[in-house]
Amino acid sequence: MLAGAALLTTTACGAGSAESGTGANGGKPAVVAAFYPLQWLSQQVGGPDAAVSVLTAPGVEPHDLELGAHQMAELGDATLIVYIKGVQPAVDDAVDGGRAFDAATAVKTLPAGHDEAGHDEAGHDEAGHESEAAGEEHDHEVSYDPHLWLDPSRLATVATKLGERLAAADPAHAQGYKDRAAATAASLGTLDKEFAQGLSTCRSRTLVTAHEAFGYLADRYRLKQVGITLDPDSEPSPARLAEVAGLARTEKVTTVFTESLVNPKVAQVLASEVGAKTAVLDPLESKPSGDYLSAMRANLTTLRTALGCGA
Ligand SMILES: [Zn+2]
Repeated sequence: MLAGAALLTTTACGAGSAESGTGANGGKPAVVAAFYPLQWLSQQVGGPDAAVSVLTAPGVEPHDLELGAHQMAELGDATLIVYIKGVQPAVDDAVDGGRAFDAATAVKTLPAGHDEAGHDEAGHDEAGHESEAAGEEHDHEVSYDPHLWLDPSRLATVATKLGERLAAADPAHAQGYKDRAAATAASLGTLDKEFAQGLSTCRSRTLVTAHEAFGYLADRYRLKQVGITLDPDSEPSPARLAEVAGLARTEKVTTVFTESLVNPKVAQVLASEVGAKTAVLDPLESKPSGDYLSAMRANLTTLRTALGCGA
């Protein structure tokens, strides 16, 4: 028996069954979500008919996830794997097509990153030699920006598609999946309206972020994202920092957004350099204290204050 094959049939986590999908969970389909927003969505749509687990533990930055034996076993036993290609290279490598639902295939994606010169995206430009020498085979290997869950309207489309996939995987409960998918899409539609309205009239429309995760939110609500780095773990180049500082001054930016799982130092340095403050905007890559909807509403409040959005 080859090691790889053995790994997939070993239940290192003691779930009590090596049979795919049906033995554990009382016969419910096992849905493995790659990271928090997809876990939330799977739970909403799966409801009581599906057993949902998540690969990325709370508080872990998902881009760097490495899969252990337990998670490989979970993937091996999954009825459906819900992920977004381009977020987690380890997951991208481990999934197989038939049982996997790549949420990026359900929506219109946006191109990856900004086009400004001087930003060294790993291995893709003249600065690539150094990036590769650092041994970092990082996220964002795909040509599109994978952070699509930060646009509620796109996530609503994903919910509908997920309902169809679950209905196909578990036909006995098809109507339940479709009904819950419709209800989830409706609450995301409400959130989308709140964002559109809340951000309709703002003194500034420029969103300066440490981690360039908010491209979809910016696109949907007509904001302009200026990200310092695509990869939350990489040090931005001095040239990129200077460029963003220049833009921030020109656009009279009052707030530089940072996030809880990433060292805020770069954002703080930039903010003090341009006379701005910092505020936390949650990219929802890990479980927030509430849920997706409440964390997004908190983001909206933060944005309205920082950008000076009136009634
Ligand atoms: Zn990210």
